[in-house]
Amino acid sequence: MYLHGTSKINTAGRLEIGGCDTAELAAKFGTPLYVFDEALIRRRCREFVEAFRATGFQFQVAYASKAFCVMAMCRIAEEEGLSLDVVSDGELYTALRAGFPADRIHFHGNNKTPEEIEMALDAKIGCIVVDNFMELHLLNEIAKEKGAVMNILFRVTPGVEAHTHEFISTGQTDTKFGFDIGNGSAYQAIREALALKHVNILGVHSHIGSQIFEVDGFRLAAERVAEFAQTVRQELDITFSVINLGGGFGIRYVEGDSPLPLSQYVQAITGSIKSLFAKHEYPLPEIWIEPGRSIVGDAGTTLYTVGSTKNIPGVRKYVSVDGGMTDNPRPALYDAKYEALLANRANDPNEETVSIAGKCCETGDMLIRDLELPATEAGDILAVSCTGAYNYSMASNYNRLRRPAVVFVRDGEADLVVRRETFEDVAGKDTVPERMRKQPVARS
Ligand SMILES: *Cc1c(COP(=O)(O)O)cnc(C)c1O
Repeated sequence: MYLHGTSKINTAGRLEIGGCDTAELAAKFGTPLYVFDEALIRRRCREFVEAFRATGFQFQVAYASKAFCVMAMCRIAEEEGLSLDVVSDGELYTALRAGFPADRIHFHGNNKTPEEIEMALDAKIGCIVVDNFMELHLLNEIAKEKGAVMNILFRVTPGVEAHTHEFISTGQTDTKFGFDIGNGSAYQAIREALALKHVNILGVHSHIGSQIFEVDGFRLAAERVAEFAQTVRQELDITFSVINLGGGFGIRYVEGDSPLPLSQYVQAITGSIKSLFAKHEYPLPEIWIEPGRSIVGDAGTTLYTVGSTKNIPGVRKYVSVDGGMTDNPRPALYDAKYEALLANRANDPNEETVSIAGKCCETGDMLIRDLELPATEAGDILAVSCTGAYNYSMASNYNRLRRPAVVFVRDGEADLVVRRETFEDVAGKDTVPERMRKQPVARS
């Protein structure tokens, strides 16, 4: 397993993260357990911020909180000078409850409810990224009732689809998100918005994909967006002050993944915008980006306790752990690949090839196929790396499992930032209709 950030093998032959022995963390907090390397999260934040500072551009680096949205993470984002993207009332609530400055919150989503729009207006957030015509007019109406004006970006689809190692340029993008530039709907949206008094147009937003290892897709998106900005300026007499090029910067999950240094994405984006806008003598806009995975992905490690095994000679040996698709649905959803090691015996030589199975009643609940490990025993601690993004935030209570705790580790200290769920958390929200109850319920 590749050792990210402060991860290392200590003198006892155990995996250590943030100066904490992971076998001790497992004993103290129980497993499954999400462990976050706080120093590595902060380092990723700083890589983006420092890369932008070096360009001279005005900028915002908005952490896409959907990757991992808990209050302590919102605190880190604020302390590191980041802005914050939310995509739901629940994420907005989490950010506000953590004291995140509302004026640095941006709200995304293809189907924001009237209640979510009200919540955003009441909190006076920095910007709403408008996704469709219905939302544009609904926002204007609700803002009017409240006597407010909301800053907006338009989510546009530039006709660029980026994949890990290549990008596809499509004439018209088949996606549920945003206004298409190619078919004129983005232009039409801006025309309509110009007539609305309760929205203030800052500019446009594009997000071309996820886990991207090349800069070409961002360059092409910048090109399409810049052309669009120029057309709009000439024909509609409005100048964008913000260009947001989204997130999607790739990280190393397994051997063979080859992400670029984060600064290179920033340099490619700012370089493109600078030259494209200069060509039209267009005033340089602020540049915003929205990294999620690249801020938290490699800082997360999940610890599991090994339980039963099943060996099918000549076929496969299954080693089961005490979690699975409930705490990490990505292998089942996307066939995502992960690396792992035995945290309590990290120096032992590998002896066998096994597949790591989750404990859920679902054949597809496999975490890793064909992993080299020492001979495992029940009670061993398995550490799966790079689980910081889209694991806790996608976790479920399938099979009524309790969602794990989350700890932040740093300088030998471990702080609980989400406690493990209790049985009360799992079943306490249920109610049984009176007619089905085994005994009359006491009235208070
Ligand atoms: C998901 C998403 C992001 C973050 O993507 P990552 O791949 O985690 O960096 C940013 N912006 C928007 C609009 C998104 O939907």
